Amino acid sequence: MLRQPNILFIMADDHASKAIGCYGHGINDTPNLDRIAAEGMRLNHCYVTNSICTPSRAAILTGTYNHVNGVTTLETPIDNRLPNVAKHLRAGGYQTAIIGKWHLGEGKRHEPTGFDFWSVLPGQGEYFDPYMIEMGSEMEVRGYATDIITDKCLDWLGERDADKPFFLMCHHKAPHREWEPHSKNRDLYQDDVVVPETFDDDYKNRAKAAKEAKMRIRDDMKYSDLGLVQPEGGSEVGERIMPNNIQRKVPNPADVSGLRLIDKDTGEVFTFADQDELARFKYQRYLKRYLRTIASIDESVGRLLNYLDENGLADDTIVIYTSDQGFFLGEHGWFDKRFMYEESFQMPFLIRYPNSVEPGTVCDDMACNVDFAPTFLDYAGLTIPSYMQGQSLRPLFSGAKPGDWQQYAYHRYWMHRDPNHNAYAHYGLRDARYKLIYWYNEGYDLPGTNHGGEDREWELFDCEKDPLELFNVYSNPDYQNVVLQMTQALEAKMAEIGDDPEHQRSGGASPSVVAV
Ligand code: CA
Repeated sequence: MLRQPNILFIMADDHASKAIGCYGHGINDTPNLDRIAAEGMRLNHCYVTNSICTPSRAAILTGTYNHVNGVTTLETPIDNRLPNVAKHLRAGGYQTAIIGKWHLGEGKRHEPTGFDFWSVLPGQGEYFDPYMIEMGSEMEVRGYATDIITDKCLDWLGERDADKPFFLMCHHKAPHREWEPHSKNRDLYQDDVVVPETFDDDYKNRAKAAKEAKMRIRDDMKYSDLGLVQPEGGSEVGERIMPNNIQRKVPNPADVSGLRLIDKDTGEVFTFADQDELARFKYQRYLKRYLRTIASIDESVGRLLNYLDENGLADDTIVIYTSDQGFFLGEHGWFDKRFMYEESFQMPFLIRYPNSVEPGTVCDDMACNVDFAPTFLDYAGLTIPSYMQGQSLRPLFSGAKPGDWQQYAYHRYWMHRDPNHNAYAHYGLRDARYKLIYWYNEGYDLPGTNHGGEDREWELFDCEKDPLELFNVYSNPDYQNVVLQMTQALEAKMAEIGDDPEHQRSGGASPSVVAV
């Protein structure tokens, strides 16, 4: 019998698959991430069950959907008495550690549990000289977050008990905004990045949610997120009056003749001929900063892979690279995530395990973040507890997919019209070809707001004919059989996992998993 494999789980924050070389979009270079895919498998259809940080992390740790683990929004931290995969692995003989971003809450009821060692960034964390909470003690660490997290992972690996298998969660803060690159990468990517063809999307032919979201690079991305300042007296794009009087505040919307933006580091001054030029300038600033932070992640992954090589661990270690969700990189004019549209819904996922994963393989079958925990337990030879709702992906990775493999990925976003993004609440289902979305538009009522009057809407996209998701065909007569089939499948999926939005209101469900 094989020894239990080591598991090195590397997760970034907001890293879209488009910004990984092996996914084939050609916007950046990631040789070390590509190495995982070349020596293992790339998944093309791995999906998040709720496209924001905190809920995705809870789903990964517990193997359950958010209505079950109670972590439905950014403001519902995990109850750390819940069982999680680290607790099971630890009980099953593993040494466990989590280093980097946690974002599941702080304090005794929310800090990491199930880990022999933990050193995490509070909240979103900082790129430079971050505070970290290590085994309950707060400390400031000098340096760049991606490097610090990597150094701490290497230190922990070097000090671990070599007689036991390890489970290490290496969670990067990058490439989350404000996208601050390491100084050595500030000049990477001098050439302009290709502008997505939907950058100037008019949001026609879709539900109201797309038009109403305040996630536009053009109108909503703050200059401060781009390392830019205005001369004294200038107003900030994206600072909106919320929550009652929701409106888009764009200073001088038609006239940018007086606008001067200054690079806060170099002092370089930028001026603009018109709004379109400004919008494209912001896009380039955004993409280049984002890709430069990813360059550090790639270097970090290379250091970890080298460590495995140099210490004879590569054959016995499962290496996974993923992100807590995807991200919009200018598609539909947006940044951020939250939506079930493909760019934010899809998680990148790469796995290398020489013992069972064929090198250079690509998988188009359905996988979800709730499947990760069962997968780890399966590889460890441990029982997958019945409360976990995902299924082990091991058969996919070993090329032994059962005939009845899951066909659907479920998504639900709860934070209806949050003050910063105004994204509408929705749930839906995707299969290999179609995506059904129901905008139920309630469930996150801040005091003083008067939400809930928005019309509920359905969307159906034919992702094969319309991969950019520009045409809602829900009412198209040619698709009524698909509407029926997908609606029935959605109802069946919700019954299977026990989600019932019509009977859950405001803020979230209570954890329904028995604590151990
Ligand atoms: Ca995230």
